[in-house]
Amino acid sequence: MPQYDLDLFVIGAGSGGVRAARIAAQHGARVAVAEDYRIGGTCVVRGCIPKKIMVLSSRFHDAWDDARGFGWSFPAAPEFSWPALRDAKDREIARLSKVYEDNLLGSGVAIHRTRAVLDDPHTVRFADGSRSVTAAHILVATGSHPVHPDIPGCELGISSNEAFDLPELPKRILIVGGGYIALEFGCLFQRLGAAVTICYHGSKVLRGFDEDVRDEMMLALATEGTTLKMDDEIATISEGEGGVRNVAFTSGQTEPFDLVFFATGRRASTAGMGLAEAGVDLAADGSVKVDATSKSSVDHIYAVGDVTNRLQLTPVAIREGHAVADSLFGKKPWQVDHSLVATAVFSTPEVGTVGLSEAAARAGGRGVDIYRARFRSLKHTLTRRQERTLMKIVVEQKTDKVLGVHIVGEDAGEMIQLAAIPLVMGATKADFDRAIAVHPTAAEELVTLRTKVPAADPGAA
Ligand code: NDP
Repeated sequence: MPQYDLDLFVIGAGSGGVRAARIAAQHGARVAVAEDYRIGGTCVVRGCIPKKIMVLSSRFHDAWDDARGFGWSFPAAPEFSWPALRDAKDREIARLSKVYEDNLLGSGVAIHRTRAVLDDPHTVRFADGSRSVTAAHILVATGSHPVHPDIPGCELGISSNEAFDLPELPKRILIVGGGYIALEFGCLFQRLGAAVTICYHGSKVLRGFDEDVRDEMMLALATEGTTLKMDDEIATISEGEGGVRNVAFTSGQTEPFDLVFFATGRRASTAGMGLAEAGVDLAADGSVKVDATSKSSVDHIYAVGDVTNRLQLTPVAIREGHAVADSLFGKKPWQVDHSLVATAVFSTPEVGTVGLSEAAARAGGRGVDIYRARFRSLKHTLTRRQERTLMKIVVEQKTDKVLGVHIVGEDAGEMIQLAAIPLVMGATKADFDRAIAVHPTAAEELVTLRTKVPAADPGAA
């Protein structure tokens, strides 16, 4: 049996890597992790956490306005300071990154602040030239990075990586894309005071989500003042006077912006790591091909999180990392179930979704019943806002099983987390109906929906 310096070497200290390293060490494994940026990865440093902090800040814009409907008045208009928010966010991110680091060190994991590459299937070399180590198992948890279309002047745009550290809030912002990041940043920038345009090459944002959700979000974005430029793309970007970005669209228009922000997806970070040379099969998009246990084509090399391009979601990466550590070192092998993963888009209003969309449920001719409510929440009966809450339940006719729940509205992210529990338990619509409502709440609609919505296309029902 060959002797190795370590039982596990983890490349990348993001959500998946940190969890795997910590759990493996707690099982008694000798573990080291290499990270060339800050501990915590995209989620902690330039993703979920700083984004949510900024989303929460942006919602005070609505809160001040809504308060007037409830009898409040303000002697002066509240003022917002982008640098104050950015600095407060930085302090929290530094604290959190330190917590992650302390948790690793406290579990006995060695941390190497350098980039690591594979010299051979069992040898990791530190790119700073300091040393090489051998490991019985290697876990690739290097995450992903933003990508953008290759158009003339694209270097004049930014991605979410830079969006968190802007010196000031630009006045006119163009966001390209119609997915999670486009909607989240579009809504938050708009509420913090910028004029936001979202440019998307399709006709409706959030491709892949339930059609009712997509329609509701299109309406909500337009109602709150976002300019929607659908079925359009950027042709070129050029720099004008004072740093202005002059954007020519394929539709023929040209418009000036102060910031162009590409939210056009993320790609697995595997370049220059020696993976292919070590025998690891990569997909055409560069992601590591893995089996259900997160094992790559090389028996002792595993990969978790965005680098595998299964579901680019932090909690999924954490589960995958945990499963690898338990399976290799904890004598309790288990696999992550990637079906029925609840997710939220932290736009305003929020989107929460779990399970199948109506279209996906109907695919293959399955009989489906739809229950839907669209209503003005109690809060907004007294505010000026036109915001509506949407709740939709997709049910399999034959079994009465709930296949999907979709919510647009305040706290949709919180609600969908709870809806995910009955769904993974295989709950039926009758199970939902047996729960007695909590009144008055928005969530009570989930247990009081009794009327089936007729199918838009009767042939589809
Ligand atoms: P998404 O995949 O969500 O969205 C990318 C968007 O860019 C889509 O609308 C896509 O259109 C569009 N697009 C792709 N290529 C081009 C192009 N060449 N020109 C114009 N538009 C293009 O990616 P994001 O960047 O928003 O986020 C990355 C991932 O990070 C998400 O998939 C998500 O998994 C994760 N994330 C999760 C969050 C959460 O859980 N709340 C928050 C933020 C990110 P089309 O759909 O038509 O291809």
